[in-house]
Amino acid sequence: MSYLSGRHFLQIPGPSNTPLPILAAIAKPTIDHRGPEFAELGLSVLGGIRTIFKTAKPVVIYPTSGTGAWEAALVNTLSPGDKVLMFETGWFSTLWGKMTKALGIEADIIKGDWRSGVDANLIAEKLRADKAHAYKAVAVVHNETSTGVTSNIAAVRRAIDEAGHPALLLVDTISSLGSIDYRHDEWGVDVTVGGSQKGLMLPPGLSFNAISDKALAASKTSKLPKCFLGWDDMLASNVNGFFPYTPSTNLLQGLKVALEMLHEEGLDQVFARHDRAAMATRRAVQHWGFDIQCRNEAEYSSSLTAVRLPEGHSADALRREILNRANMSLGNGLGPLADRVFRIGHLGDFNNVSVLGVLSGVEMGLKARGIPHRAGGVDVAMEALAGNSPPVAHAAE
Ligand SMILES: *Cc1c(COP(=O)(O)O)cnc(C)c1O
Repeated sequence: MSYLSGRHFLQIPGPSNTPLPILAAIAKPTIDHRGPEFAELGLSVLGGIRTIFKTAKPVVIYPTSGTGAWEAALVNTLSPGDKVLMFETGWFSTLWGKMTKALGIEADIIKGDWRSGVDANLIAEKLRADKAHAYKAVAVVHNETSTGVTSNIAAVRRAIDEAGHPALLLVDTISSLGSIDYRHDEWGVDVTVGGSQKGLMLPPGLSFNAISDKALAASKTSKLPKCFLGWDDMLASNVNGFFPYTPSTNLLQGLKVALEMLHEEGLDQVFARHDRAAMATRRAVQHWGFDIQCRNEAEYSSSLTAVRLPEGHSADALRREILNRANMSLGNGLGPLADRVFRIGHLGDFNNVSVLGVLSGVEMGLKARGIPHRAGGVDVAMEALAGNSPPVAHAAE
């Protein structure tokens, strides 16, 4: 392979670009995971990660991709034949639903249009009708990475409370954690699922469960088989900063630095930076004349934007062109959105100039492919980032 000058632009919505201080920490020699130096590291990351979930309760860390933490949330709280209420926001909620069924849990999945978020009213309706409390959990995705839609989790919590229903609330924050405001304790979430490779700026390989008291109590009677992903042994070892089996030591070294970086910048500033990048990206997309996959302004995702190309134009051909010309990877359309949309990741480690670089690469690709668009989207984004723009709409409370 011939040398490609300039750094590759990894603009898929996760894995995101890993900053150099984190890469340097990961490159340090592996330490003894039963030794005193590790205990210090373990206690530091196990404590520090709670601030990102905004919880005072335990967070367990698995040496798996996010999918492992999805499974952990289910097998630790539920029993065979239990019923779970889910909402189809897109590809990732669909995959979680499939997993739920594969584990022997009954998933009742409310259909969605893949262009909007969880409808809390429909959740409330289902729960009110469930007088016998057959639903043991409600499981939803906070930020649907296939569509760029962020759902209102506080509204889902209110729906459960107003229905007076005891179901647990399980939430996937894999592509929002560390990018979009999220509050495990305040929103009364029982298990929050996270991953390392998106907003936390790490490579793939770590995943998380933040666990409420109610979820912990449910784990004592849950009957689904679990061993590797069981909370009990994890939590017992974690008290002293250790793990029941060999953890991903080097990724934990990286996590320590990632947490320091997020706090040094300040979580509110991190979220505002993502909001700004998303807003500038949408301005460019709308100027080009394309539809955004997310229909509802209040649900626009701040970590990625899914862009719909006009009928008859291949999103995959555009992505190939951009990879070849600009050395930049963009996200593909998933499931029914294959070749119809492409996804621009603006999450993790970036600044205004990197956002403009990404949009320039896209605009050059549009020209090269001869896809009809209004030129100058990058200028509009530059104006927006320079501050000449009204405040950003995003889903928070
Ligand atoms: C990336 C992602 C996943 C899958 O995580 P893996 O690390 O690939 O297992 C699940 N849910 C959402 C919302 C995601 O963005």
